[in-house]
Amino acid sequence: MQPFDVIVIGDGVGGLSCAMTLASAHVKRWWDDRRVLLIGDGRSDLEKARLFNAPGITPGTDGTAVLQTMREQLAQYPAATHLTGHVVHIERCDQAWNVVTETGDMHSTPILILATGYKRWEFEGLPVSPAPHPRGGKPDRISLQHDGVYQVSPNLHVAGLLGGGSSQFAIAAGIGAQVAVEILSKWAGKRTHVHDLPERPE
Ligand SMILES: Cc1cc2nc3c(=O)[nH]c(=O)nc-3n(C[C@H](O)[C@H](O)[C@H](O)COP(=O)(O)OP(=O)(O)OC[C@H]3O[C@@H](n4cnc5c(N)ncnc54)[C@H](O)[C@@H]3O)c2cc1C
Repeated sequence: MQPFDVIVIGDGVGGLSCAMTLASAHVKRWWDDRRVLLIGDGRSDLEKARLFNAPGITPGTDGTAVLQTMREQLAQYPAATHLTGHVVHIERCDQAWNVVTETGDMHSTPILILATGYKRWEFEGLPVSPAPHPRGGKPDRISLQHDGVYQVSPNLHVAGLLGGGSSQFAIAAGIGAQVAVEILSKWAGKRTHVHDLPERPE
């Protein structure tokens, strides 16, 4: 069992956005060798899409290509690990969340983020359960209730459409980034964000 400072479950738009925003803070003075684990079974809704209206994405780009670019963006950061796995069980044990995959691997973390989309809920053991999605448009869409900035309960957060946002790339990615910034601000002990700047010539 490897200790991670935060685990994001769900490697679609919301989860990738969340994990890369978290890991991009690795240059901050307070980062302190933290480690981010993203775990998912690679079945994002974006796999089925061709995007024309997603901000910053070249019109006509396949969703599969966008996801590949996002995976490469995450891989820039040494603090991040991306594992393929289907999570079947999550339990609270003392101050940790233990995340178990169908192959029996277990990963432990103090902070857990669920970004598994608004269609699937396939794990046991969690002390919360989903409600009907307020903006999903279909009766079987689900979401988790939260405090307004995506905290479900202490050290349990929700990102992407499972957080209640409408089904648009920008909204799912935005909720992922917001959750990351909330956690980074806690780690920093003050409000923070991560802005990269172009290198300036000497
Ligand atoms: C056909 C189609 C076309 C679309 N076209 C557009 C468009 O043109 N413009 C636009 O803005 N948006 C579009 N979208 C919407 C966009 O794809 C979604 O808004 C976005 O993918 C939602 O992100 P998410 O992270 O919430 O969920 P997803 O991206 O679906 O990610 C959920 C992730 O959770 C993982 N997961 C779930 N359960 C588990 C588990 N138990 N263990 C491990 N992993 C798990 C899945 O593998 C997946 O990686 C389209 C969607 C569809 C279906």
